[in-house]
Amino acid sequence: MTEIQRDATPVAKSYDVIVVGAGFAGMYLLHRLRGLGLSARVFEQGSGVGGTWYWNRYPGARCDIESMQYSYSFSDELQQQWEWTERFAAQPEILKYANHVADRFNLRPDIQFNTRVSSAVFDESTDRWTVATDDGKHYSAQHVIMATGSLSNARTPDFKGLASFKGKTYHTGHWPHEGVDFTGLRVGVIGTGSSAIQSIPVIAEQAKHVTVFQRTPNFSIPARNHDLTAEYQKSWKDDYPELRRRAREESRNGVVGAMPTKGALEDTPDDRKKVYDEEWERGGLHFMASYNNLALDKTANDTAAEYVRGKIAEIVKDPKVATLLQPTTYPIGTKRICLDTEYYETFNRGNVTLIDIRNAPIEAMTPNGLITGGSEHEFDAIVFATGFDAMTGSFAKVDIRGRAGLTLKSKWAEGPKTYLGLMVAGFPNLFFITGPGSPSVLSNMIVSIEQHVDWITACLSHLREKGIGTMEATKTAEEDWVAHVNEVAYKTLYPQADSWYMGANVPGKPRVFMPYIGGVHIYRQICNKVAAGDYKGFAMTPQKQVATAAE
Ligand code: NAP
Repeated sequence: MTEIQRDATPVAKSYDVIVVGAGFAGMYLLHRLRGLGLSARVFEQGSGVGGTWYWNRYPGARCDIESMQYSYSFSDELQQQWEWTERFAAQPEILKYANHVADRFNLRPDIQFNTRVSSAVFDESTDRWTVATDDGKHYSAQHVIMATGSLSNARTPDFKGLASFKGKTYHTGHWPHEGVDFTGLRVGVIGTGSSAIQSIPVIAEQAKHVTVFQRTPNFSIPARNHDLTAEYQKSWKDDYPELRRRAREESRNGVVGAMPTKGALEDTPDDRKKVYDEEWERGGLHFMASYNNLALDKTANDTAAEYVRGKIAEIVKDPKVATLLQPTTYPIGTKRICLDTEYYETFNRGNVTLIDIRNAPIEAMTPNGLITGGSEHEFDAIVFATGFDAMTGSFAKVDIRGRAGLTLKSKWAEGPKTYLGLMVAGFPNLFFITGPGSPSVLSNMIVSIEQHVDWITACLSHLREKGIGTMEATKTAEEDWVAHVNEVAYKTLYPQADSWYMGANVPGKPRVFMPYIGGVHIYRQICNKVAAGDYKGFAMTPQKQVATAAE
């Protein structure tokens, strides 16, 4: 017998679990689901694994978490055998790693590539989800897990005349797989976030001229990337169990590093400068952990911001350009801090121009380029480094309908509401990996992914054992968690910036601080306590005896 969906499209196949996305979350999830003996299918819209690292192939793309830490910990053999070549791995190496993992654990047979999930609808009569894909097929599953990533919905602003531009356009988040040769071309880059900051220096080495359109300057710290020595790798590998434990259980952001014990104002200005100098020379995100109160106390934060502004003034030769590059409108770190290789230095090149569009926004694109401040700038190619509809954008692309036909879009009209970032009231058996309300983008994503996958798979095992048919967040637990996420966020300086954490980069998106800022260590304890307390805050119903699914 074939299971029939309400609109009478026959269900092609039924699974215990359908996973959306074959990035780092989807891959590990599939491995664990198989380990539980569950039938699972992963749908992936790209033609390969790797998620973010599959799509973001722009020149200079590189991770800002160190390679020895931005890697899976679930398999000791894998972490012992894989050799990273650089302190911060470049995109091709991370993608190679993702492919290695897919092959090593033989994941591909259960991943369906080039397939976009268009809808997921919960059927209250069977307690199952019907998942539709863009090839018109329908599938049935008891559980659906969204492993769609937090920064996967690349966004090109709706500029007037966009389609009229005769040259080539590229988005950093959807870079052509064959690469782009900018030799001899006049290139416009719109945006100055992490993607722009990494790509501009590389594009400038190739192009005839690069014009950068900046709306808001960003704080960037030198990456000081370098090759990894065998000794350094060995020191990590010898101590991996303890180092991974510290990343999970003791750190705020899933990264092992020296923990500051002092506030910035406890040091004299001279001592503070020494601390910042050391961090600047060492390079990396740890700069923001120079002191323990940079995210909390504006006066402390000002000392770090002022230090970086001073560095920009030292590096950039034209004082007017240096001033434009110095961020002044938000505390340092409250927009995601960037790591760069010679970003500020690039503005000393003769073939790079910075245009401030804060007060003179891009008016329109034209066949030859774009207009801002009443002048037309002509280009052969334009790069949109304009970011993502972050954290909720990839869910919004799927028509998700829970109990009584409630859409996730309408439920989240005033901002995302989740319990623990894992589940949503009214949407039974639907899980989110690194969803809004969890530490996600504020952490080493792989640490957070592994924690969510481990928690969810342990939960699925529990549900099976107890014969439970549905599990969903209760409204009360969800409301309490949303209030807690907000309360913690507003104790910090983060909400002071117009950042994508706040949804501020997308016109009309509700201003809500989306990730949980309490730290991965605390968050893990909360999740574990909930599971140990018989999944407090979740409502469960027994398994229905419904005839389902033959092929
Ligand atoms: P982003 O940080 O959101 O930056 C987008 C840029 O485009 C901003 O400068 C923004 O200006 C500008 N922009 C957006 N709309 C515009 C408009 N209509 N007119 C003019 N300018 C506009 O995006 P991203 O650089 O792709 O980075 C997103 C996140 O991805 C990062 O924060 C990071 O978490 C992650 N990422 C990580 C790495 C890494 O690991 N190293 C690299 C790349 C990305 P405003 O600031 O004024 O909005």
